[in-house]
Amino acid sequence: MEKIKNYVNGKFVEPTGIQWLDVENPATAETIATTPLSGKAELDEAVAAARAAFPAWANTPLPYRVQPLIKMLGLLADREEEISRRMTEENGKSLPDSRAEMKRLLQNVECAVGMPLMQQGDKLIGAAGGIDGEVLRLPIGVFGMIAPFNFPGMVPFWFLPYALATGNTYILKPSELVPGTMAMVTEVMHDCGFPPGVLNVINGDKQVAGAMLEHPDIDGISFVGSSDVCRIVAETCGRLNKRCQPMGSAKNHLVAMPDAVMDQMIRNMVTSCFGCAGQRCMASSAIVAVGDEMYEKVCTQFVEAAKGVRVADPLDPAVADESMVMGPVITAAAKERILALIEDGVKEGATLALDGRDLVVPGCEKGHFIGPTVFTDVKAGMKIHNTEIFGPVVVILKAADLDEALEIVNNHQYGNGGSIYTQNGYWARRFKLEALCGMIGINIGIPAPVAYLPFGGMKKSQFADIKAQGKHVVNFFTEPKIITERYWPTPDS
Ligand code: NAD
Repeated sequence: MEKIKNYVNGKFVEPTGIQWLDVENPATAETIATTPLSGKAELDEAVAAARAAFPAWANTPLPYRVQPLIKMLGLLADREEEISRRMTEENGKSLPDSRAEMKRLLQNVECAVGMPLMQQGDKLIGAAGGIDGEVLRLPIGVFGMIAPFNFPGMVPFWFLPYALATGNTYILKPSELVPGTMAMVTEVMHDCGFPPGVLNVINGDKQVAGAMLEHPDIDGISFVGSSDVCRIVAETCGRLNKRCQPMGSAKNHLVAMPDAVMDQMIRNMVTSCFGCAGQRCMASSAIVAVGDEMYEKVCTQFVEAAKGVRVADPLDPAVADESMVMGPVITAAAKERILALIEDGVKEGATLALDGRDLVVPGCEKGHFIGPTVFTDVKAGMKIHNTEIFGPVVVILKAADLDEALEIVNNHQYGNGGSIYTQNGYWARRFKLEALCGMIGINIGIPAPVAYLPFGGMKKSQFADIKAQGKHVVNFFTEPKIITERYWPTPDS
């Protein structure tokens, strides 16, 4: 069986004397690899390597610093399909979803290659009499990233290529549930020409992640995961005066206005809610229908469409290339948690209009599958509305008008994404300006920004000031040092 390795100081290493964790294919519950649960000793080695590599890397001219990233574009593209399959095998998302994720990963590398433009500073001639001001954007040191399970490839690349291109050195901790994707990507990065120590990958769980937060020689942390952990990350980094970028949980609302284009909207909603088995941070899991008529139509048509979603092992050749196939949720524990939340919804009086609890995929009896599940008659504030279920469970609420729909969206604890379906520019504009969500869709169910734009939410979905990817994230990885200078005339000048 494959043993996942750490990558420290330019070498793949198999740590000894520590525990290992089995990695599962969630569609079959078969063990496909084993991953090290690294501890402080393994982390210390990686931090020492990253710290030692920093001065020379920071002083490498930018056109040279981006060369390994340019090489990475070609080498990653060569192994794109192989890595996509691995992602599907360990994460359970459909193969087209994994391929799309690889495209977004590559797009972030493409974007970071533009660092010679993005890292430019500012100069103000004549800030005062004979005095000029200048802003330099300097690399800072060693950065770390703690990743979630749901996007094993893309999410680390919201940060990693930008951190390296700006002249910092890096330590990545993939999710212990899906370490194989980054193991393959690291094989590629090894061949790209980064000097040893510039990039390090440490596998492990929350123990080593906690050690990263506390480590005095790590200058900043990007974290993506659940909001409860975001709070720990933000508090620890605040206490230690460390830069941090914690991005958290979500409950993304889709608002259906009375003039929405029905067929396209329902199709779009189904993809948004059930793609990746509802385990996208930009998946929707709450629909707000405006007006009695739209509420009745959405309840009927969405439930009918949800019944048509095909649930299968995403690597089954019969479905592997279909775009809308729903795989399993990530673990048996996740399935148990989701089933308990469905039970809670029944107890709190919502109508279980579509029940996916008893679904069995033939040949995958041990897999962690749940069928599409829909609750109607849901009231704002019910547990099933308030909680991020992170599975294929959708709640449908009714609002009298746009004001009430906005109230439902804005009173929710999370504000990652939010979408409105309408052809009415006035309603769309109000939603765009007034909805308290970081990423807004207008007739788009998954408004996940491309790599050239920032990515991040509001409220408890984002504990960070600086969002991920694009030119925004350059501010996270650089220190704006401000110079005020003047030169006095001398007799010989
Ligand atoms: P998680 O919070 O359980 O784990 C994320 C990472 O944190 C893992 O690497 C894990 O090892 C580590 N970790 C767990 N407990 C920790 C602790 N106490 N201290 C330090 N590190 C700890 O999240 P997950 O289940 O892997 O991912 C799903 C979550 O991620 C969902 O809530 C989803 O909404 C969120 N997410 C958000 C975004 C976004 O853009 N905001 C993107 C992707 C995923």
